[in-house]
Amino acid sequence: MTTLQDCRAMDAQDPLRPLRAHFSLPDGVIYLDGNSLGVAPKAAAARVAEVVEQEWTQGLIRSWNDAGWVHLPQRLGDQLAPLIGAGPGEVVCTDTTSINLYKVLSAALNIVRADAPGVDTPARTKVLSERSNFPTDLYIAEGLCHERGLELVLLEPEDIAAALQDDVAVLMLTHVNYRTGAMHDMAAITAAAHARGIVCVWDLAHSAGAVPVDLHADGADFVEWRASKSADFAVGCGYKYLNGGPGAPAFVWVHPRHAGRTDLPFMQPLSGWFGHAAPFAFTPEYQPAAGIRRFLCGTQPILSLSALQCGLDVFGAAQALGGMAALRAKSLALTDLFIALVEERCAGHGLGLATPRAHGARGSQVCLTKDEGAYAIVQALIARGVIGDFRKGDGARHPDILRFGFTPLYLGFEDVWHAVEHLRQVLESAEWQRPEFKQINAVT
Ligand SMILES: *Cc1c(COP(=O)(O)O)cnc(C)c1O
Repeated sequence: MTTLQDCRAMDAQDPLRPLRAHFSLPDGVIYLDGNSLGVAPKAAAARVAEVVEQEWTQGLIRSWNDAGWVHLPQRLGDQLAPLIGAGPGEVVCTDTTSINLYKVLSAALNIVRADAPGVDTPARTKVLSERSNFPTDLYIAEGLCHERGLELVLLEPEDIAAALQDDVAVLMLTHVNYRTGAMHDMAAITAAAHARGIVCVWDLAHSAGAVPVDLHADGADFVEWRASKSADFAVGCGYKYLNGGPGAPAFVWVHPRHAGRTDLPFMQPLSGWFGHAAPFAFTPEYQPAAGIRRFLCGTQPILSLSALQCGLDVFGAAQALGGMAALRAKSLALTDLFIALVEERCAGHGLGLATPRAHGARGSQVCLTKDEGAYAIVQALIARGVIGDFRKGDGARHPDILRFGFTPLYLGFEDVWHAVEHLRQVLESAEWQRPEFKQINAVT
């Protein structure tokens, strides 16, 4: 049996413990929802105030140059790049995940169309994804397929390998599943898809800052595309594990072999002026910037980007304490502890585990199932200051879920103990059956 003393001892030995001081955690809250909206870095309020009062109020239009606003999407992209195994000049922070997905999925389809071999080979008319992918990803793909007369095929994870056939244009997957926390083997799936001539788009919304990601799985070698296990396109979210603030700009990464293509000026269809080679030349014709900057569209949200920088800065501090490897080790220890404590202390209440036990297949969250009352239990926990969330199910294969995210930057092992103790009390007292906890909110 694990005890509260054991948890305190784990905190005492935690090399990442000092990072908690970089965040403003409200009193009386155990925050297990950093996978939905990360905690505010302490530096954010002062930084945004500085941008408003100095750079905007005093600097005015001059700040696009003097305060470096114009380069902020690339500068933050370079700061984020090491977290996802990307190189400098390969990432920009911009727009939303949904919008970036539209850009990269379109670009992937444009590449497939441009590179299609002769008329005798079967056309690539399918986009593959997972039935339990995050809905906005599926909606964007659905819209694009509708626009282009393609078919969106939704699969269960175990059926993906067999579906990688010559009629598939693009495989679009989310690395860590938002519902279950299950994690794909990105390099292996990418290699299998490339071998069949399929371009891969990865969503890193629940990966960036949470698990090590290696977009350049080939390493430094030049590998012919069909033999490559490096990804093609990736997008991800700024407001989850990166702690960039509500609605923070997202990011987009494109492998240089694609980003540098000069034969497809409209590879990225949202051909706005910030992605132009020379925005201030004001020429009437579009000419894309070289490299990743062509994935920008319009004028960038400087206040939001400034807040995102504060989130990314904490990962700079984490680097000195072991970086993503240390964060991953702690994340697995936190989720292992949560699973063990739930099984030891909450047995007999019909809870199931939707998250894989195998470390290699687990992101940084733990999801529990319960036949009845999942939503109300989450509400009862929130009333006690233990903030997780609820995700609606879709039949027996995808049940309702109580979702708990574990952010190793600021969570401690004692927090996990208390969270499970609250869960135990909510279940044993049947507190969750109170009517106020059954009231469904607009945002769950
Ligand atoms: C959170 C999340 C998004 C969010 O997209 P927005 O455009 O920021 O609303 C998209 N995809 C996945 C997989 C997510 O987890």
